[in-house]
Amino acid sequence: MSSEDNKGFICKKDGKPMYLIEETEKMSNGKHRAIFYYKCPVCGYRIEVEQVIVTVENDQIIVNRRVRLL
Ligand SMILES: [Zn+2]
Repeated sequence: MSSEDNKGFICKKDGKPMYLIEETEKMSNGKHRAIFYYKCPVCGYRIEVEQVIVTVENDQIIVNRRVRLL
């Protein structure tokens, strides 16, 4: 077990441990977006923690991170 396991979130509604989900999608304008969020397996409640948008422009990779402070 790594120390990461202790940092999980507990659902406010039912007290169940939430798990981290990563979702990636390719947007129509060629950008790639990754969203990280915690989700409760019981009621579906979710907390978004980070959004990363990756753009490739003139052979350069531009990474745009948006971290939400919890
Ligand atoms: Zn819940």
